[in-house]
Amino acid sequence: MVQGVLKRLMLMGMVFFGGIAFGGQKVEVLHWWTSGGEAKALQVLKKLLEQEGYEWSDFAVAGGAGSNAMTALKSKVVSGMPPTAAQVLGVAVQEWGEMGFLRDMSAIAQKEGWDQAIYPEIQKIARYQGKYVATPVNIHRTNWLWVNPKVFAKANAKIPTTWPEFMEAAKKIKEAGFIPLAHGGQDWQDATVFETVVLGVGGAEFYQKLFVELEMKPEMMAKLTEIFKVFRELKGQTDPGSPGRDWNLATAMVIKGEAAMQIMGDWAKGEFAAAGKKPGEDYSCVPVPETADKFSFNTDHFIMFQQKDAAKQKAQDALARLIVSEPFQKSFNLTKGSLPINQNVDLEGFDLCGKKSQKAFVKASQKNNLVPSLAHGMAASAAAQGAIMDVITSFFHNPQMSPEAGAQALSQGLQALAH
Ligand code: BGC
Repeated sequence: MVQGVLKRLMLMGMVFFGGIAFGGQKVEVLHWWTSGGEAKALQVLKKLLEQEGYEWSDFAVAGGAGSNAMTALKSKVVSGMPPTAAQVLGVAVQEWGEMGFLRDMSAIAQKEGWDQAIYPEIQKIARYQGKYVATPVNIHRTNWLWVNPKVFAKANAKIPTTWPEFMEAAKKIKEAGFIPLAHGGQDWQDATVFETVVLGVGGAEFYQKLFVELEMKPEMMAKLTEIFKVFRELKGQTDPGSPGRDWNLATAMVIKGEAAMQIMGDWAKGEFAAAGKKPGEDYSCVPVPETADKFSFNTDHFIMFQQKDAAKQKAQDALARLIVSEPFQKSFNLTKGSLPINQNVDLEGFDLCGKKSQKAFVKASQKNNLVPSLAHGMAASAAAQGAIMDVITSFFHNPQMSPEAGAQALSQGLQALAH
């Protein structure tokens, strides 16, 4: 009897197993959220979609900051098989928009009141020629220093707020037998560290000139050399196993107390949270030295590709609606370590770091100290970003190269981009 009913329901495509609706519209989502914290956050979206009867089809491409995922996305689109939706970073929204592949999401945006709900700074990034072509998910801050306070206590070191203080603390930490800076030597991680040094030592205006306007004037050379000097000193605070290491493994070194610090965006908080660690007790989040009043940010977006099939369009609308909705914004961002893009979401229940980040975002935005992350695809075109990151990473991994030569190389690279 029961079997007969099951069989009939299955034929009608209505049997649910563990929340998955077999026979529901498939929603293929390409993304790079594969670390422990990231995968946990993604579950929030997957569950909400499945509750509405959709079938989640996961297209995960590992690799921090998404460059592997972008290669996979291009090849899928070129071979005529775009996913239902794909995770991209800010500037890529404009690049895909220009190529004409994206679906105009204005109708759902209007219905859901995105103009009122989403921060104006973020709306700009999600629109191409005035129309919403992407759904923003979160606001990440990249200029965070993640600290293991127990290691600091054992080394009798003080949490730094300036670069000289950082180097002083690093010396004590090394002497006490710990690694001062957990780091993964991959180009985007090197660039994540470098851009925070630019922001602190150079300031927000200098940062904008260098990475957004791609402008390099002779009078900027002295500052740039100073920045490369700090960057060179930072290399000396990493361990020999650093080259090629994934970012979440570097975070794990801080969690386990092998290393004292990591410079990384607040997706790292997702790792601490997933490991059951508490901010203010097991770890601390402080701004990268000399950047306390500044905020470099990046925003993940989901772009939706044009579809002729009405059922597929409906699925895309559902995905976009859910992402901007308050319940998703709250629970996803709590797990991911980021801030909501929906300004109606209250931060009750958010931890210390989330609340600090929110305050810093508002303040930095009022004072023109909010800058787009270069390493995370918010500041320059993919080509310019790649060229700049090449210089940064070659310098970092070549101890023979002097800070003066590093500054020269970046300056020449920027001049070449201007032509
Ligand atoms: C993305 C984050 C992601 C991080 C590491 C960043 O570019 O914005 O969502 O967690 O890369 O993969």
